[in-house]
Amino acid sequence: MPRRKLVAGNWKMHGSLAANAALLNAVSAAASAGCDSAVCVPYPYLAQTQAALFGKAVAWGAQNLSQHAQGAFTGEVNAAMLVEFGCKYVIVGHSERRALYGESSELVAHKYEVAQQAGLVPILCLGETLEQREAGQTGAVVTEQLDAVLNRCGVASLDKAVIAYEPVWAIGTGRTATPEQAQETHALIRAHIAKLDAGVADRVQILYGGSVKANNAAELFAQTDIDGGLIGGASLVADDFSAIMRAGAAV
Ligand code: PEP
Repeated sequence: MPRRKLVAGNWKMHGSLAANAALLNAVSAAASAGCDSAVCVPYPYLAQTQAALFGKAVAWGAQNLSQHAQGAFTGEVNAAMLVEFGCKYVIVGHSERRALYGESSELVAHKYEVAQQAGLVPILCLGETLEQREAGQTGAVVTEQLDAVLNRCGVASLDKAVIAYEPVWAIGTGRTATPEQAQETHALIRAHIAKLDAGVADRVQILYGGSVKANNAAELFAQTDIDGGLIGGASLVADDFSAIMRAGAAV
């Protein structure tokens, strides 16, 4: 069975009640049966997003969660809270969290595990820096990041997860990986999973992220192993995100 495409927005730390209302309206109008879609919004906007998208074809989620169940963890948000606000997805291991907040692959795997235990679908981000790419380490870096999850949760857990390959040098830089560069790493990730379970490897959605725009989405999404995109900057612009959703539905 062909894998469905998923176009997921990562709003990062952007938004306001007024701007979100217009954006959510436009996103929900652009949704179609031909492509899965979602927006991952800042925590304070989950209630607004839930109210706007409830019963619509667009899912929603968060961008991070605590590995802890509850307790004295000031400023943290747990998986159960995300479930209460109707989240389907939660991003784990975004490169900004790995780089700016020191999240290790082991911590990311822990977050992935607690997300799944709560019934959330983790969007597991993997990706190399420019330095690592230029040193020929792309494959080693993404497999190390993936192995932390495989070792902790097992390959079957990927049936309830999404992977996002996001080369760090392409995030927010306007510098997109070429479709061939992205396809090469997606194929490598899928082959790595296939060594453990060919069926899971065939089923898991692997998104590409890194300066996906309305004008390059179709070409990226046409690659054999690219099953949609995790979209940062362009997910904040209604027309751009809607066009990327349409590109996902058209492939
Ligand atoms: C991201 O933040 O996951 C991302 C891919 O950002 P951008 O699309 O802006 O490069």
